[in-house]
Amino acid sequence: MPDAVDAVIVGSGIGGLVAGAMLARYGRRVVVCESHGIAGGAAHGFERRGFRFDTGPSFFCGLSDRTSLNPLRQVLDALGETVEAIAYDPLGHYHFPEGTLPIYGDAARYREAVAQFTPTGAQELAQFEQQMLRLYEALRGIPTLALRADWKLVSTLMGRYPLALLTLLPHLRLIRGSVGDVLDTWVRDPFVRRLVDLECFLLSGLTAAGTVAPEVSFMLGERSRSVVDYPLGGAEAIVAALVRGLKTWGGELRLNTHVEEIVVEQGRVQGVQVRGGDRLLAPVVISNATIWDTYTHLLKPDRLPATYRQTALDTAAIDSFMHLHLGIRADGLEGLTGHHVVLHEGDRPLTDPGNTCMISIPSVWDATLAPPQHHVVHAYTLEPFVSWQRDGDYAHRKHAKAEPLYRALERVIPDVRQRVVQEMIGTPLTHAHYLRRDRGTYGPAIPAKQGMFPSPQTPIAGLYRVGDSTMPGIGVPAVAASGLLCANTLVSPQQTTDLLNQLGL
Ligand SMILES: Cc1cc2nc3c(=O)[nH]c(=O)nc-3n(C[C@H](O)[C@H](O)[C@H](O)COP(=O)(O)OP(=O)(O)OC[C@H]3O[C@@H](n4cnc5c(N)ncnc54)[C@H](O)[C@@H]3O)c2cc1C
Repeated sequence: MPDAVDAVIVGSGIGGLVAGAMLARYGRRVVVCESHGIAGGAAHGFERRGFRFDTGPSFFCGLSDRTSLNPLRQVLDALGETVEAIAYDPLGHYHFPEGTLPIYGDAARYREAVAQFTPTGAQELAQFEQQMLRLYEALRGIPTLALRADWKLVSTLMGRYPLALLTLLPHLRLIRGSVGDVLDTWVRDPFVRRLVDLECFLLSGLTAAGTVAPEVSFMLGERSRSVVDYPLGGAEAIVAALVRGLKTWGGELRLNTHVEEIVVEQGRVQGVQVRGGDRLLAPVVISNATIWDTYTHLLKPDRLPATYRQTALDTAAIDSFMHLHLGIRADGLEGLTGHHVVLHEGDRPLTDPGNTCMISIPSVWDATLAPPQHHVVHAYTLEPFVSWQRDGDYAHRKHAKAEPLYRALERVIPDVRQRVVQEMIGTPLTHAHYLRRDRGTYGPAIPAKQGMFPSPQTPIAGLYRVGDSTMPGIGVPAVAASGLLCANTLVSPQQTTDLLNQLGL
């Protein structure tokens, strides 16, 4: 029987959608199977009583700037899609026990704000940022759209971007190094060291010592040289644009289509077995499920070399989350800003569950996300998955664990509890269920210098992986890059060159 399609993608997270849409853009017949009734994975949106909630990401960059290095932006351009977004500065406020620091994209304003806490620290921070921004500028010369995950990359880069490659050479150590190394060289001030740790934690789930330098270079570069912006309509507007792009280029998205098994015979992928009986044949299957879900639930154990499988499954996982989704009355909150991070106790590790709370109130940028005179709020904090079960204590425990989130919100909106008109509390069990993620994890904990996120290839011919447990890592720009790397690896360098020419990159 002929293959029904060229590639099946398991999962419609940003990584899966980018891989699928880009392969469709390259002319491949593609089907994306999504287990959930809504596309987008961690980036999906949902509605309750007129409030539109983001489930996960709310911090984006470069959506409205063609010069941005954000791979997602490059993908949207390649698909002919746009996402309307609103730029804002300050990007957020960090609420430390000793006071509140506004975070500005504008470098001079940011330094002034830090100097209010520590003048020496502000100078050290400027030196630290200078190092990181040099790498951002060097990365500028090679668009992510040109990258692939096999040896053919070398000839593509040498042929098309020889000067940019030369510019990158002096930064090789930094590219492979950790933010902690740069921090140790340039910053002594404890306030600034903790600030950088916090920013790393928000990106990678790890502190500076564990975070790879290019990730922070990218963040600092985008926010000071490009733009931080929020998509009108919420994160789901990005998902919708990718789905439109997938369909425009002939791809198909099947919702409520849970893949039970990736079918492998004689070491080669044959397709997927869908719950309910259908088998979809394809020579290529791309799993957007996490590394643990893919190798535990989707593949029979004997399909992989035992040691490879065990090593993959032993990858450490970052914790899951407690979530608080609120609809609140907005009267008297005219000066409210959209992003806040609250650190409750300065002498406790910021990675401790409940100690660092992230808050986003996207209706300050897009009023259509909430009914008139209301705001939509998402607050979350790390929470381990272990020991959560739906027993008699579940409801009580859930409310108790939401307390640090309410206390964090009170730093921003002191009477928030009296304003609530809609409340939903999510636990790691909720997170694991709706995002279909093993233990509801944020992603792999692979510290810089102790390993690298795996490439899209697997030991099984025709089986590839994308998303936040593959290269380059966690976060929307990173998983978009993972989808791109995978799609490019599956086509000829000439096809990518043609696309780059069309886009003028
Ligand atoms: C609370 C939170 C806040 C965040 N904030 C930000 C932020 O502000 N900025 C940022 O850049 N990043 C942020 N992130 C990180 C970012 O959202 C994720 O790294 C990224 O969206 C993950 O995308 P992914 O492609 O790896 O897959 P996922 O989003 O995990 O999607 C995988 C998809 O596969 C589907 N699936 C799994 N198994 C099957 C199966 N067997 N059959 C069919 N389908 C299946 C799932 O249902 C899911 O839709 C945040 C994450 C969280 C959780």
